[in-house]
Amino acid sequence: MFRAKDCEGSSFTEVRSNSTYPAAAVQACGPDVDNSHGNREYANVNWDELGFGLTPTDYMYIMKCSKEENFSPGTLTPLGNMEMSPSSGILNYAQGILEGMKAYRTEDGRILLFRPELNALRMKMGAERLCMPSPTMEQFLDAVKQTVNANKRWVPPPGKGSLYIRPLLIGSGSMLNLGTANEHTFITYVSPVGNFHKGVVNLVVGENVYRATPGGTGGIKAICNYASIYKTISEAKAKGFTDVLFLDVVTGKNIEEASTSNIFIVKGNTISTPATDGTILPGITRKSIIEIARVLGYEVEERAIPVEELFDAEEVFCTGTAVVVNFVSSITYQSKRVEYKTGVETVSRKLYNTLTGIQTGRIEDKMEWTFTLD
Ligand SMILES: *Cc1c(COP(=O)(O)O)cnc(C)c1O
Repeated sequence: MFRAKDCEGSSFTEVRSNSTYPAAAVQACGPDVDNSHGNREYANVNWDELGFGLTPTDYMYIMKCSKEENFSPGTLTPLGNMEMSPSSGILNYAQGILEGMKAYRTEDGRILLFRPELNALRMKMGAERLCMPSPTMEQFLDAVKQTVNANKRWVPPPGKGSLYIRPLLIGSGSMLNLGTANEHTFITYVSPVGNFHKGVVNLVVGENVYRATPGGTGGIKAICNYASIYKTISEAKAKGFTDVLFLDVVTGKNIEEASTSNIFIVKGNTISTPATDGTILPGITRKSIIEIARVLGYEVEERAIPVEELFDAEEVFCTGTAVVVNFVSSITYQSKRVEYKTGVETVSRKLYNTLTGIQTGRIEDKMEWTFTLD
């Protein structure tokens, strides 16, 4: 596992590859699949038009656990609907955890996962909080590998996007009282997604709306955390904002995070982000950006950040698996709008280029974060 000092004094170097990606392989797609390129077999997708919507793929992975037992080995099945008792824990009480990760195809034809063991650990933490059994690390990693391998033709060509991977853990058994369901199901499905960059990101600070409370579930990827902020987000979007930046519920004075991404502010050589103390989701992108920034020589502070500091920042960016790094161009708080530097000459861009370089195999992975699928 990576420790900051392992990389002290090291820099990030581009990988020189003489194998270039054959563009013809994509154009040559037949009605369903082009089988003529062995490893480079692709599904029939217009890769240049890929957005962040759901594209159905071939297979999903399902694994079950009955009460007091461990998960039994799972299976790949064709992607499709599932049957469930109307009295299941997930349908009645939102007993469930989600995860999100990505697989990238490299220029030399490999498929890379990024720190998948951290997603496995985070699911385990969430499962404990919601009184659910969780797959072991080996089971989680094996499920993800099998699902990606079975859907390999949906992993976009290098530079065109990634395969988004969604592991779920749900209380699938029936129950009427609050408590532990007598059956839990782990599911993994995937969808190809494009490189997700909104042109301009304008955040609005949420007032009298909160995402998480101390002692609640804000620090885990609980399924119940998301529907409760739909209304706030849709109202913000109707006013032309991209997303909402939430404040802490106790003081209403410190920034926490956006709806599905962590936030960072840059001033001079210092990069600051709110400390994760239970109400903020500990993002794997957040953790990776902190580690990269330290290697690159920036001062990184994890602390309480008063909302007023937004008026003093030079750059602001958000991090998450879906967006990787989103460059924030403005934030509006109590009708005051402050604008930030974006573009190629920014600290945010440098961090983004380094992280995506490692994730896609363009930059040598000295941190040993990537995992090559076989
Ligand atoms: C998933 C998520 C993030 C980002 O986490 P990553 O591991 O970087 O994808 C941040 N905030 C919330 C609320 C999330 O659900």
